[in-house]
Amino acid sequence: MYDRIYNFSAGPSMLPVPVLEKARDEMLNCEGSGMSVNEMSHRSKVFDKIAKDAEALVREVLNVPENYKVLFMQGGATLQFACVPLNLMKTGRADYVLTGNFSKKAYEEGQKFGDARVAGSTKSENFTRIPRQNELELDPNADYVHICFNNTIYGTHWDYIPETGNVPLVADMSSCIFSEEVDISKFGLIYAGVQKNLAPSGMALVIVREDLIRDDVPKYCPSLCSYALTAKNDSMYNTPNCWSIYITKLVLEHIKATGGVKAMHEKAVRKAEKLYSYLETSKLFKNEVSAESRSLMNVVFRCPDDEMNAKFAAASGKAGMSNLKGHRLVGGMRASIYNAMPEEGVDYLIDFMKKFEQENA
Ligand SMILES: *Cc1c(COP(=O)(O)O)cnc(C)c1O
Repeated sequence: MYDRIYNFSAGPSMLPVPVLEKARDEMLNCEGSGMSVNEMSHRSKVFDKIAKDAEALVREVLNVPENYKVLFMQGGATLQFACVPLNLMKTGRADYVLTGNFSKKAYEEGQKFGDARVAGSTKSENFTRIPRQNELELDPNADYVHICFNNTIYGTHWDYIPETGNVPLVADMSSCIFSEEVDISKFGLIYAGVQKNLAPSGMALVIVREDLIRDDVPKYCPSLCSYALTAKNDSMYNTPNCWSIYITKLVLEHIKATGGVKAMHEKAVRKAEKLYSYLETSKLFKNEVSAESRSLMNVVFRCPDDEMNAKFAAASGKAGMSNLKGHRLVGGMRASIYNAMPEEGVDYLIDFMKKFEQENA
């Protein structure tokens, strides 16, 4: 109907069609205001309700406990790499588990503010698996332990929540948030750049336990990076990313209406299992990720050589699929199959891969 293609982009990525339709319908006149959200004061009654609804929906859909604050902050997940140490480092010591590119970036940013330490890494195995609990060397006196829950580039996902004792666990959930039920109480802080599973880019969702929010952040902490100031001002210390907040609200209404996070997870398991089980039998395509560490959101695979990878990427584009080329750091292919990717999209991809295999194996 709209000539849309199957977009396997890792982010920004597909949004549910009903959400795009609603945003289109409200583009010139949002809720009787006579204007678009893009033209509206963030202090207006209409927008205030949109922001409050978005926050309430995050709480409801993710089952966020009472003693956690939900914040919308600008700068995406990358600014959170700095906000976390700025707000949570007290002694200046923090542990980072390296499971891929984004966890490394978070670690490097943490080093600017204190003694960030590597508490575990699977770099020597090309990040093809998540380290086990007994491989982690955790400092019991660290201010926090940072992990990246789903590794967008390497296609891995933590299959367990690490035990960190009294040390708060901080997780980057950019590429898996709202795709699975999470026991928030096991985490001190969760953050996510919203452009994978929730909204357009430029914003991060932060869920932080209240006792970790402190007023005495370092003097050099920019106001916009302070969780305390953001919480005190209901995420509107300055003009927020109104459009992202609005789409967040629409996406969460859509998730709620279609079965919640539980249904998202069931669908994600169905889609990923189909693709992984085909990859297990394929004679052409290989997935090198350890079975227990496989991501439901980002499925990486490759042909025996770069020439074949390039041929596949080009042919898939001609067949109505985009962004299957893998990240430049790892090469090969990657199918990002977030919540908004329909099951038919994955079926279509698998059929295409089978045909490609027959012709090229
Ligand atoms: C995409 C992504 C980021 C970066 O997000 P930005 O919003 O571009 O800063 C960080 N971490 C993970 C896990 C991601 O997938």
